[in-house]
Amino acid sequence: MKSIIQYILVSFLVTNISTCFSQVNYLETSAEMLYSKATNSVLHINYNEQENMLGHNSKPWETNTYKIKGELWINKMQFIKRDSLTTDRDRQYTSKTDIINFDVVHLDYGDQDIKSVSFNFLTEKLIHTARYSPLTILEYLMKNDLDIHIKLANKIIIYSTTINESLTEVFINTNTNLVEKITYIDYHELYGDVTTTFHYSEYHIDDQISFPQKIRIEKINGNVVDEIEITASNITSTIPQLLTKPKDYKITEDEEQNKYELKTTKYNDFIYFIDLIHTDDKVMVVEFEDCVLVAEAPINSKNGELIIAEVENIIPNKPIKYFVFGHHHPHYLGGLRAFVNKEATILCTAMSKDYVEFIANNSHSLQPDNLEIEPKPLKTQIIADSLVLGTKRKMEIHFIGEKSKHTIDYLIYYFPEEQLLFQDDLCWIPKNGEITKAGARQLGLYNSIKALNLKVDTIIQSWPIESHKVKTIIPFSDLEKSVLQN
Ligand SMILES: [Zn+2]
Repeated sequence: MKSIIQYILVSFLVTNISTCFSQVNYLETSAEMLYSKATNSVLHINYNEQENMLGHNSKPWETNTYKIKGELWINKMQFIKRDSLTTDRDRQYTSKTDIINFDVVHLDYGDQDIKSVSFNFLTEKLIHTARYSPLTILEYLMKNDLDIHIKLANKIIIYSTTINESLTEVFINTNTNLVEKITYIDYHELYGDVTTTFHYSEYHIDDQISFPQKIRIEKINGNVVDEIEITASNITSTIPQLLTKPKDYKITEDEEQNKYELKTTKYNDFIYFIDLIHTDDKVMVVEFEDCVLVAEAPINSKNGELIIAEVENIIPNKPIKYFVFGHHHPHYLGGLRAFVNKEATILCTAMSKDYVEFIANNSHSLQPDNLEIEPKPLKTQIIADSLVLGTKRKMEIHFIGEKSKHTIDYLIYYFPEEQLLFQDDLCWIPKNGEITKAGARQLGLYNSIKALNLKVDTIIQSWPIESHKVKTIIPFSDLEKSVLQN
């Protein structure tokens, strides 16, 4: 009997708590502000968009900018968009998106036909409607059977739910009933948990149809920012359909990386190379008298952890004291968190230190790696011009930076006794056929070797090992030959 009374009391309390929030359904009132139930019209807008994408650029967080002009037709259940994108090299591409009743059909930039795509890709396109308007996400939250949590903080009511494993939150101002921002958290294999925030401002307010005229999108926890501006708008009665699904259209499974292949070669009595066949990278392991150094670890923590297991196998009784990467691109530093977890010191330049700190310290809760499970403090050591390691056998690390003609933080590794130089991706000598004229990076490497007065016999390159039909083990005479052709 007691338990029944307790149950009634508890359910009474729970009902009361939820009703005090749900007396006003702000999702509904906000959607009503954007799009009145009384209207059958369609909002048509033109916009200018600046999209910034991370690329393999000279500095960490440096982006390539794409200018996009587009138009969008939107009502409660339809989101129809077409745009054209101009690259910084002035090339133009178009894309089209039709979303009807949350069913997404998309024709990507440069594609002639609609391709079968994965469920994750389609969900991302659905969430990305928030780049232009909060309406589709509001409707999605109201019309789907989702587990929604509600919080109230300082006149902002927050509706939280999970869309395809991404925590999505809608922030509505309880004074204006307008959506101030939408956030979602996603997993990124290099950065871990990344938040994207869509900020809405300068609402055009009308009786029946209102919309934000400025949208600012903060990606990767605010490290990359995009802007969208509505340049023209009108209300119309018709909505076009831009795309039709082809007959053989399928939603595909996401491909999961589950093939890992490592091949270790002993170069001499203290240098090893581990080829990561699945990423096309060569990793260097140097065994000093009392410790080990690892240079390069591609893409993600998983690869870092695989490299560490292999190093512990080939050199079982010495600690990994140092991890170093030749430059900040993902193929070289992507696995650094695994080495932080092993309490290795991360050798880096002043230009890449902040970036290393972000990768090492950002949470990885969505797909935990060893460092997330067992956190360790980050230890870094800055290389200014050069660093010499080892007593009997010596390894030199030289800063060449911008002289690489590739990135501002470039390091190369030199073994004076062996006359061996290891570097990441500067040398492009074809495996077969004639040696062609050196490009900027290759010339940059040659000039750096000369400026440092290094006597080099052999160059070994980290990436690529199989693709691109270029040599990984390069006689210095090949490099010289390519330069003399200039
Ligand atoms: Zn690179």
